[in-house]
Amino acid sequence: MAEPQREWLEKDYYAVLGVSDTASVKDITKAYRKLARELHPDANPGDAAAEERFKEVSSAYDIIGDDDKRKSYDEVRRMGPMGGMFGGGGRPGAGGYSGDTGDIGDLLGGLFGRGGRGGRSGRGAQQQQTRAQRGSDLEAELALDFDDAVKGLETSIQLTSEAACSTCSGLGSAPGKAPAKCQHCNGRGLLDDNQGMFSMSRPCGACGGRGSVITDPCRTCRGQGTEVRPREVKVRIPAGVKTGQKIRLKGRGGPGRSGGPPGDLFVHVKVKDHPLFGRSGKDLTLEVPISFDEAVLGADVIVPTLDGDTVKMRIPAGTATGKKFRLRGKGGESDMVVSVEVAVPGELTDDQRAAVEAFAAASTQSPRSHLGV
Ligand SMILES: [Zn+2]
Ligand SMILES: [Zn+2]
Repeated sequence: MAEPQREWLEKDYYAVLGVSDTASVKDITKAYRKLARELHPDANPGDAAAEERFKEVSSAYDIIGDDDKRKSYDEVRRMGPMGGMFGGGGRPGAGGYSGDTGDIGDLLGGLFGRGGRGGRSGRGAQQQQTRAQRGSDLEAELALDFDDAVKGLETSIQLTSEAACSTCSGLGSAPGKAPAKCQHCNGRGLLDDNQGMFSMSRPCGACGGRGSVITDPCRTCRGQGTEVRPREVKVRIPAGVKTGQKIRLKGRGGPGRSGGPPGDLFVHVKVKDHPLFGRSGKDLTLEVPISFDEAVLGADVIVPTLDGDTVKMRIPAGTATGKKFRLRGKGGESDMVVSVEVAVPGELTDDQRAAVEAFAAASTQSPRSHLGV
């Protein structure tokens, strides 16, 4: 029946129980029991709000506390017409996108009017007509190697999502069968409202303002014009992306309904760590240990770059630990910032110990003289 599904789209049962949509059955049950105890009518006599909540919590648990029902519920919401509100498993309000909500009743007429799941028949073709509706925004994750994130690259991502039906090219009619003229509005898509002096037009509800109805629905998509299938989307990653960044691919999201434009695809970037290099702003960073004598006397040291090349850098005499050097143009699009760290040997040979003791004996200045102690 369409009714529960309609409710499913409108209600976030996970939010009702205060759990994440990836919560285990055990956690869901735990959350339910706690809320049910708190809200139970026996514990809140005469509290209508608590009773309402208690009912809400119970019906939420009835669905997402049951593995099979939960699967159907998740699926309905994943496929929901609400775009960013439910697309790609997102939670309402997540991701800073606010969906084009449109008219829920209308949309659901389109989604479930023909009894998608159970294959019910006999509901009029008119029911599946919807107003032009923008496609849902989708989200995908892309893991990038450190080098690629620094330099940028062109790649493609595989995703399984709603797409224009490959059988009917999204038209919704069986191949070779054209949609019929809407009888209700005689193909105009508009109905006239005569109210006193004013004559106004409103979109025809029977055909959603399109002027035509699908009489022979495509078998693949049952007239929806969309199907869920794997597809590949090319994406150009600009140089310098970081973990958490979102790349918007306009028009690569879910297909629009009834002639509406497609939604967008948001690619969430996740950059793998590099064993040597890090990043600070646009710069590449690298920590380079130097020995005590190199710090004191100065030295030329060879350091690696992201390209696999090496570069020689000059450490001036008297370099303190933590000092930073900027190597221009050696950080992909930007510079490489090298911070040197003076390595202190753990164990000394007799010769080394003698040399350091000789150095100490020859030193007269305390580095702590300014502390006055
Ligand atoms: Zn189709
Ligand atoms: Zn019409």
